[in-house]
Amino acid sequence: MDLFPQHPEPIVQIPQRVRFARVAIERGLDLMGGLTYQTDDDTVIGQRVVVPVGRGNTPTDGLVIDIGDQELLDGFDPRKVKPITKRYDIVLPESLIELGKWMAEYYMCPLGMVFGSIIPGAVKAQTGLRTQKLVQLGTVQPDDELIKSLTPKARDAWAKIQELDAEAFPVLPRLLAARIEHKTTASIKRLIEAGLVDEIEVQRIIAPKGFDLLDAGDSGTHNLTPDQNNAVIGISKSFGKFQPHLLHGVTGSGKTEVYIKLIEQVLERGQQAIVLVPEIALTPQTAGRLVKCFEKIGVAVLHSGLSRSARNQQWAAAASGEARVVVGARSAVFAPVKNTGLIIVDEEHDGSYKQDQLPRYNARNAAVKRGQVEGCPVVLGSATPSLESWANARAGRYALWSLPKRVNQGEMPSVKIVNMAIDEERVKIRESQGGLRGDHTIGRTLGAELVRAIESNGQVILLLNRRGFASVIVSTDKKCGWKLECDQCDSTMVVHRGCVRQQGGRRFVRCHHCLSEQVIPKQCPMTGKPVIELGVGIQRVEDEITQRFGERLGLKLGENFERVDADTMNSAKDYFDVLDRFASGELKLLLGTQMIAKGLDFPNVSLVGVLSADTALYLPDFRAEERTFQLVSQVAGRAGRGTKQGKVIVQTLNPGSAAITRAAKHDFVGFANDELNTRRLSGLPPATRMVRIVIRDEQNNVAHQRALELAELLRADGDQRITVVGPMPCSITRIANRYRWAIEMSCASPKPMQVAMMHLREKGLLKSDSAVAIDVDPIWLM
Ligand code: ADP
Ligand code: ZN
Repeated sequence: MDLFPQHPEPIVQIPQRVRFARVAIERGLDLMGGLTYQTDDDTVIGQRVVVPVGRGNTPTDGLVIDIGDQELLDGFDPRKVKPITKRYDIVLPESLIELGKWMAEYYMCPLGMVFGSIIPGAVKAQTGLRTQKLVQLGTVQPDDELIKSLTPKARDAWAKIQELDAEAFPVLPRLLAARIEHKTTASIKRLIEAGLVDEIEVQRIIAPKGFDLLDAGDSGTHNLTPDQNNAVIGISKSFGKFQPHLLHGVTGSGKTEVYIKLIEQVLERGQQAIVLVPEIALTPQTAGRLVKCFEKIGVAVLHSGLSRSARNQQWAAAASGEARVVVGARSAVFAPVKNTGLIIVDEEHDGSYKQDQLPRYNARNAAVKRGQVEGCPVVLGSATPSLESWANARAGRYALWSLPKRVNQGEMPSVKIVNMAIDEERVKIRESQGGLRGDHTIGRTLGAELVRAIESNGQVILLLNRRGFASVIVSTDKKCGWKLECDQCDSTMVVHRGCVRQQGGRRFVRCHHCLSEQVIPKQCPMTGKPVIELGVGIQRVEDEITQRFGERLGLKLGENFERVDADTMNSAKDYFDVLDRFASGELKLLLGTQMIAKGLDFPNVSLVGVLSADTALYLPDFRAEERTFQLVSQVAGRAGRGTKQGKVIVQTLNPGSAAITRAAKHDFVGFANDELNTRRLSGLPPATRMVRIVIRDEQNNVAHQRALELAELLRADGDQRITVVGPMPCSITRIANRYRWAIEMSCASPKPMQVAMMHLREKGLLKSDSAVAIDVDPIWLM
């Protein structure tokens, strides 16, 4: 008997090393550091995973933001740490993890939610991903026996396949059959059975081909002007390191050309480039030119007009590196590019870079941050830079490059300011037309120029930045003062005219905040008197043009004249079509909202008319002047881009406003420096940094009380450098039945405010959700 019981030899197992991962959970929880899970060596930072959350171990999506050993446990018992349950194939580059962490902190948004929104829904769902069976040349060396055993058809196929280039494979069987001129794939199936060709499975994202970006017309590259050259050389010196640049170039100075040259250079360095443009449907020309230039080497386009499968496909192309250049709107700042060498933000002043829902980020600022993370230059370009960027350039934080002249000796258009308050300008409406009275919107001067431009075969752009038919419905009884307001919002209803085909051209009212609609009341509910519609919207101008100029100039809506606004343009395609027709000369007149003020480059535009430069001037927002300057300058910049001298007529009731007079002189620098001074004196951005917090509730007193408490907490933090103003009712006090109170914090630098908010956030006293909107660096203060 053995003294010792026999034990079987233990099987030596090399255990998979247990590692730990921090995972940012995509839903709900505001956990800056994420939660810790067990994993193994195969998980990588940036990978999308499923993890169990809470007592019920609810499977929840998340993103791995850190991987390490025991140090990630913070003393937690490793046996209690649950494992990651599933790994997806989606992996974000590490630079985006860092950018996301910054976003969560800077913009006060739950970390998981930031990552949740960085990855498009279509990518998460892998929309359009299909498994395809392709055929490839086999590795079997065929002997004569084998060949002889084939059917004659298969033998023929085999002979023809051997003639094909290796590059033709792998290929869909159906396409291969077509190439070897076989009607069916039967012969190819035989070859597979015989092992002469192999069948492989690949995953591909299949997306229907979308519409083409507007044919940009000009796709050739040019010899740079000395100013362009100077900017290209200067900016390219910073390749390989972080440096923000502001490219201030007047309209038509060839900024796009500068971008193209810089991108070419960065591609030569073996890197990729990201170009942001304002919502792409609005700037098809810039995007179109870039796409055309870089199509051959691979370009991905990301914007809201894409189908889900196309979005997934483009994103994958950016991630794999197949696309070397990524062009897109706001969210393209999160393009999963691995080797970013250059980031460009075109029209950097544009409001569409700011997202007005969680996470409330500004893509221009996120682009600068990404440049810092990636260690690459960032170019912000505009004819009318934001005062934020201008202040940064003046302070030397951004390098400034100027293109003060148009290319090809092009002249800046001459701008005439017309005072609509004087009688000579007014054109009275002759008989009361459909309840309208008062004056027409096109004054004498502009009317005469319109006739001249069209008669001399020029093209015309008219801008009125006011949608709908009329701004408000009021009682004709002056003493009554009744006006039609939205039931759910503290705001007047706007009169719209439905489209003739769908709504019989009938007029109705719509609230621009909650989008609710009503029929127009026949009479004032207070006095029973008739009502009238005041305030001219763009639809009314459409009628005016037809009535006053239609016959005389042969202008016909839908034929050679179109209205371009959010109500007529249902899709990006509608917009592209209109621009195409304008480019071809079929359209002579475009009447539009700010949609037509941006980035368009048509050489034959000889007249631009601004029907009212005052639409933005009275908004209760400290950026009212800045916006007015930008709008007038940008739309004026559409004129005279070819050989014809362009003319611009700006109608206003404020002919003395600096925003308007400076825009008329194309004097950005003068305007910006004065405005910067004013902001400094009144302690407003960019001289200070601002955070605006809006508290909403269905009950006014509840919202007010919460706002009071929050303001108190922020003040109690006691940092003397921070000014806390409010709570005060927002200028629109109620939207969709929720009352709104605002608190405005400002400080010379953002850090103290971030610290104060972080303290509250850690204690659970401050959280971005549907009741609390935290807007860091707000651009709209309504
Ligand atoms: P911006 O974006 O500054 O308004 P664009 O980039 O649209 O200006 O350029 C205006 C026009 O001038 C375009 O049609 C462009 O092709 C042309 N252009 C740009 N650079 C040059 C150049 N160096 N020589 C000739 N034409 C140029
Ligand atoms: Zn409303």
